Amino acid sequence: MSSKLNWIDEELESLKESGLYNKIRTLSSPQGAWLVVDGKRVLNFCSNNYLGLANHPRLVKAAQEAMDKYGVGPGAVRTIAGTMNLHLELEKRIAKFKRVEDAITFQSGFSANLGTIPALVGKQDVIFSDELNHASIIDGCRLSRAEIARYNHADPASLETVIRENIGNYRRGLIITDGVFSMDGDYPPLDKLADIAENYDLLLMVDDAHGEGVLGEGGRGIVDHFHLHGRVDIEVGTFSKAFGVMGGMVAGKAKIIEWLRQRGRPFLFSSAVTVPDVAATIAAVDVLEESTELVDRLWKNADVFKKEMGNLGFDTGKTMTPITPVMLGDAKLARNFSRRLYEEGVFAMALGFPTVPKGQARIRVMISATHSRDDLEKALGAFAKVGKELGVIS
Ligand code: PMP
Repeated sequence: MSSKLNWIDEELESLKESGLYNKIRTLSSPQGAWLVVDGKRVLNFCSNNYLGLANHPRLVKAAQEAMDKYGVGPGAVRTIAGTMNLHLELEKRIAKFKRVEDAITFQSGFSANLGTIPALVGKQDVIFSDELNHASIIDGCRLSRAEIARYNHADPASLETVIRENIGNYRRGLIITDGVFSMDGDYPPLDKLADIAENYDLLLMVDDAHGEGVLGEGGRGIVDHFHLHGRVDIEVGTFSKAFGVMGGMVAGKAKIIEWLRQRGRPFLFSSAVTVPDVAATIAAVDVLEESTELVDRLWKNADVFKKEMGNLGFDTGKTMTPITPVMLGDAKLARNFSRRLYEEGVFAMALGFPTVPKGQARIRVMISATHSRDDLEKALGAFAKVGKELGVIS
């Protein structure tokens, strides 16, 4: 019998032994404040559905109506025969919402990064990348074949040092950072990064996947939060988190967007996002433009939860957003904590190495506008009970 796949058994076994094997839980309900997870009804603190749009009646209705008119699939890659007027309408609406010249959509945030970075820099160029940037940025950087120079997390002084060490040796330079860092819920001083980009005449790109729909006026993102319109060349985003749907986007100067329509490989070689996705995303923009109510409620919920967790004696790290890490340190403790919370009816993920550095395991609590005050109280009660039981708080 062939043994050519035995290495997979060995690798999987080793993942299990080191506690890194992903056990994927199954949901049998829509995303919302409450979920049915592996058959049990629990409070949801795991999803990126910050505003509750993933199951919002207006998005569902828009998707259904669009399918009645256009069907389901786009039929082709967009440059061949897959661009519908719906795709163009979404891009126009996004550019207006983000207060930029133009926007282009991709199939996901991941593919937006894979498409954008190699279109902007190549072998003769250098990328200055925050050491904690998301996997899709790292992969996009590698695909570009540019030199990658890492700087210390969210540290403008370190960025400037690394720029000085490299700048003369390359044709072009690109600074890239996450907007909101999803493991800690912090964000960089983007105004300082913009100053540096201008001083050294470098391109500046921010991946605002977790800031879109969260930061800035009515959820317009980190660039709006810092009032940096026109000073950040490329904003990458996703429709899979606060927007509640699926798909990626790049917003910025018209010249860059036009270049991505010509040279963004996932745009040129992978089919367009489906009709219901596009229609639902347009409806999400409608909801966000009409009122800041959901964004305001998200922040209010986050403020209440973080304050009460602090009062209970928990360490919520350096969060500056609704992403709330509950720092526990030990990976086994974090896993036990998450399991006990689940038994108490609260679904919140434990994160350990290599997702976060060794010794910094945590439970990550994702707050949403859909949580009621009662939901938050219930979660705080469960955290208090399990925290005392496991000796994390007294
Ligand atoms: N960038 C960042 C910073 C992210 O957190 C994520 C999602 N985990 C992505 C990109 C990918 O987004 P999408 O789910 O749309 O592929």
